[in-house]
Amino acid sequence: MKPGQWLQPRHGSQEAFEKDYPKIEATGVDVICPGCKETVHLTRRGPTGKIGGWCKRCNRGAGV
Ligand SMILES: [Zn+2]
Repeated sequence: MKPGQWLQPRHGSQEAFEKDYPKIEATGVDVICPGCKETVHLTRRGPTGKIGGWCKRCNRGAGV
């Protein structure tokens, strides 16, 4: 599994992240959270095509 990176700019909440990454996509891509090293499923896509997921433990968005 690939190490992930924090999404920039940082989202203040999961709701803010989901607003910025409005499309739900089953990408099948998992990354290692840069904070807690748990698996983060990248299930959302932003308008620019960027994919991301939310780490509940770190309360922060991660991507590739
Ligand atoms: Zn984490």
